[in-house]
Amino acid sequence: MTELVFRDDAYQRSCRARVVAVDERGIRLDRTVFYPTGGGQPGDTGVLRLADGTAIAIADTVKGDGADEVIHVPARDSTPPQPGAEVTVEIDWERRHRLMRMHTCLHLLCAVVPGAVTGGSVGDGRGRLDFDVPGASLDKEAINAALNRLIGEGLAVAPRWIDDAELAAQPELVRTMSVKPPTGTGKVRLLEIDGVDLQPCGGTHVRNTAEIGAVEITKIENKGRQNRRINVAFVE
Ligand SMILES: [Zn+2]
Repeated sequence: MTELVFRDDAYQRSCRARVVAVDERGIRLDRTVFYPTGGGQPGDTGVLRLADGTAIAIADTVKGDGADEVIHVPARDSTPPQPGAEVTVEIDWERRHRLMRMHTCLHLLCAVVPGAVTGGSVGDGRGRLDFDVPGASLDKEAINAALNRLIGEGLAVAPRWIDDAELAAQPELVRTMSVKPPTGTGKVRLLEIDGVDLQPCGGTHVRNTAEIGAVEITKIENKGRQNRRINVAFVE
């Protein structure tokens, strides 16, 4: 089990850690700031720095078999550290911050568009959500305006925890049909955007919607009888 520093503080760019194990899948640490691929958000990249200054590039981060287990996948041709080694763990913050901005933006998109979410993906600079909605019911310009209005309002974004029983009593909190919140550990992490959105999410987000910056709906695609894919990108 790894201490997940990013879960309490998504703005932590680095931490000290100890190498717990190394195998063909990757490197396990006792604590980490690296977010593992999950919930539509890609895993972090970055470096592990040894005491002698050697940098081990991390190309991807994935979940292990156990709860809260994180596997740091080293870049090809890198020499993995020895178990027990002390390392400084550093994420590629510029990339992670863009992913946090887009991830938070997709929560707002979810709030703007009525209908169940059937899938989604957070990308670097762009993202998309699939909605189970009929025909030509979506107005691209209206969604664009509503989304940017919520971003501009500078709404507070914060996690909070509830227990499994509370979540079971409020099934309306779960907007996504494809991603079930992880239950069974007794409590569930919710992400709340003040007055706009509240749903289970274990990803990383910015603290305020204004930090997302201007976005635009680039395309609404028809992906089946009741499936509409809404694509969004930063206006850089
Ligand atoms: Zn989220």
